[in-house]
Amino acid sequence: MPSFVGSIDQGTTSSRFLIFDEHGGLITSHQLEFDQHYPQPGWIEQDPKDILQSVTTCIQECTKKFEAKGFSVKDVKAIGITNQRETTLVWDKVTGKPLYNAIVWADTRTHNLVHRLINNSEGGIDALKKICGLPLTTYFSAVKLIWMLENVPAVKEAHENGTALFGTVDTWLIWNLTGGLDGGLHITDVTNASRTMFMDIHKLEWSDESLEFFGVKSSILPRIVSSAEVYGTVKISSPLQGIPVAGILGDQQAALVGQKCFNRGDAKNTYGTGCFMLFNTGSDVVISKSGLLTTVGYKFGKQATVYALEGSIAVAGSAVKWVRDNLGIINDTPEINVLASNVEDTGGVYFVTAFSGLFAPYWRDDARGCIVGITQYTNKNHIARATLEAACFQTRAILDAMNKDSGHPIASLKVDGGLSNSDICMQIQADVLGIEVDRPAMRETTALGAAIAAGHAVGIWKSLSELDSVNAENRTVFSPKFDKEQRETKYKEWEKAVEKSLNWV
Ligand code: ADP
Repeated sequence: MPSFVGSIDQGTTSSRFLIFDEHGGLITSHQLEFDQHYPQPGWIEQDPKDILQSVTTCIQECTKKFEAKGFSVKDVKAIGITNQRETTLVWDKVTGKPLYNAIVWADTRTHNLVHRLINNSEGGIDALKKICGLPLTTYFSAVKLIWMLENVPAVKEAHENGTALFGTVDTWLIWNLTGGLDGGLHITDVTNASRTMFMDIHKLEWSDESLEFFGVKSSILPRIVSSAEVYGTVKISSPLQGIPVAGILGDQQAALVGQKCFNRGDAKNTYGTGCFMLFNTGSDVVISKSGLLTTVGYKFGKQATVYALEGSIAVAGSAVKWVRDNLGIINDTPEINVLASNVEDTGGVYFVTAFSGLFAPYWRDDARGCIVGITQYTNKNHIARATLEAACFQTRAILDAMNKDSGHPIASLKVDGGLSNSDICMQIQADVLGIEVDRPAMRETTALGAAIAAGHAVGIWKSLSELDSVNAENRTVFSPKFDKEQRETKYKEWEKAVEKSLNWV
């Protein structure tokens, strides 16, 4: 009997459901974009019902395609979930209804609130870093929840009377899939919990000190579980009804697993809406001195916790989307690559895509986007190329920080995510970093990671070494073409451009 594993990949701009076979091969998938809401500059919201609906529709359509290929959904042994992280939801356990839209991870409405917290605490931006590994910024869930408690009366009331349930997207989906009002599980895994600022990263438990700092009651929080175990089964009416839900990983941690970065020192970079590099630090909780985040990499069942250092970039693929939708110089996303390859270089133009401030390693929410170095000679090709370069230079800043923190220079970088489809961008990346950039043929590594977690929990893959051959063939390796001088000169110019983007707000 063949065995299959399903994977829900709930991303920032779209949801997918995918089915993998027992060799990690992708059999079929379905993807749907859903609406983003921008009520004010810097605000990004999603309707929790849209998120759920897009997932359930993807499940229906994907399982139809799967059966049309002659397979049976009965042979799907488990499903895993991976999700956009930090995005914050609150719903009511009596009505099952969301009490506000989901506040998306890149939303910066908490700017003033964060500065108030920083100014009122002795430790400043790093007040909770020893506990949760994270600086106080607009990025993480805690401050988004506080904003709701201060600004949305329904959330405040439900928090006070004990009917509010807080969750990240994994929690919302699982609560609904496992029954909702009819006994839905209120859980989150260690990787998602490690992005809230509420979890003690050493003990993997909610931290009383952190809850007190934010003034949040523990009754609102989900139970923390591992990334791979059978949590329950799908209970709602769905083609997946009765199938175990057995894996949860935040999207970047899922990509770490999907890229099989199982050894200390392995690193991957995912170029999606934003861009996220994770570096496996094994069982060591490394607190960064260079602006990186400390996060849980994964924890499979009762096995030891694997930690990671992370460098997060808020804007990567979304800058390409901005060039398409707001500048209108390309009609579709891949066209940026055509424009960028019309020129040898950017003609001295740099585009700091700090639309939501700058994340790692800068952590400057006062930064805003800027394009510098424009001359009469500059045309849309240069702007297109500078847009791709922006993700590559920010990645270089993070790689430098990782090398500094870990003391072990990264020799090769595994890449994935939408923007990694761009050959020209990946070549620029190798040139800017001066190391090889290694891209798999099957780029749904985030979904694969969640499938690996779930498959591991139900015994399809008993040990991680059984995954050696998964997605190993037909990889593309981009080798650096710049000499050291070219590389360092361009990077210094980029750093000058970053200076221009700071102190804007
Ligand atoms: P997420 O999971 O964050 O929603 P994805 O991994 O699906 O993101 O990546 C989507 C991003 O990748 C989009 O912002 C898009 O601009 C970019 N992208 C996708 N394909 C290409 C391509 N061929 N060339 C350049 N950018 C691309």
